[in-house]
Amino acid sequence: MITGATRSAGVIGTPIRHSLSPAIFNAAFAACGLDWAYLAFEVPEGAAGLAMAGVRALGLEGVSVTMPHKAAVIDALDSLSEDAARLGAVNCVARGGSGLEGHNTDGPGLIDALQIDEGIEVAGRSFAIVGAGGAARAVIRALGAAGAGQIVVINRSPGPAEAAVSLGGPSCRVGVVDDAEHADVVINATPLGMGVVVTTEGEPEPLPVPPERLGAGQVVVDLVYHPATTPLLQAARTRGAHPVNGLGMLIHQAAHAFRLWTHEEPPLEAMSAAAVAALVHRERDTEHSR
Ligand code: NAP
Repeated sequence: MITGATRSAGVIGTPIRHSLSPAIFNAAFAACGLDWAYLAFEVPEGAAGLAMAGVRALGLEGVSVTMPHKAAVIDALDSLSEDAARLGAVNCVARGGSGLEGHNTDGPGLIDALQIDEGIEVAGRSFAIVGAGGAARAVIRALGAAGAGQIVVINRSPGPAEAAVSLGGPSCRVGVVDDAEHADVVINATPLGMGVVVTTEGEPEPLPVPPERLGAGQVVVDLVYHPATTPLLQAARTRGAHPVNGLGMLIHQAAHAFRLWTHEEPPLEAMSAAAVAALVHRERDTEHSR
């Protein structure tokens, strides 16, 4: 029950109505018996600073930050974690001794999804990452920090790939799509697979990695989680590789935020079950509107 004493948190972004975060965090608060509530706030581009003024005035305990505010919100905060400062992107705002603190939990979220959910030790493994945008940069930095043996960054545009390589440490370099064949773990960090990339009429979205570069013994991770099985993950399965979608990363980045806000251990199973239920609900909604 929401009372006068209920503490509040939320997510800012646009568009926000399909966010899974309210389901994930409210399930986590309930499972831990915390008198907290979490809402989604539709905040237009350019209004991240205003939103943070609102957070201060209203006393929200924590805020998740998603597109398009991850960089713009920085100017409105009092301090940044090392990761957020280096990445120039914040996905979680917490209250701390210095006021509003910006963090970036995306990279640690992927590391936990690999190590905790899939039992894949990152240290010493070789990785090929397709993409060099915000998600890829966070993942590259986290892999470098976790001791990945080799990190190859493959991107459509060379400039962002070269910039991203500096985040991964000495074992990180720019590569080409054929390099995916030699990686233990291949990660898609592009939107290919979400069905949002515009193609010539009737053409399916291209795969981020040609299927012939995938094979047995590899793990193929798609940061996309809706649909749950993307064409890349389908191809990975057909080729004998182990497919992993982006839901684990989403849950674990939220788990890091939960720890920062509440100082309690996150109830991972409840969070995961809530996300899956919300996705099923979203799928039904989409079918009804067809
Ligand atoms: P972003 O900053 O816009 O970066 C997009 C990247 O994809 C860029 O490197 C871009 O290449 C590349 N790209 C875009 N369209 C492409 C195409 N048609 N062909 C080849 N490459 C293309 O986006 P982001 O925030 O990094 O997000 C990337 C994906 O990760 C999205 O699907 C997002 O939903 C997902 N994501 C998942 C989680 C999670 O928790 N699971 C968290 C964050 C993001 P150029 O540099 O050439 O433009």
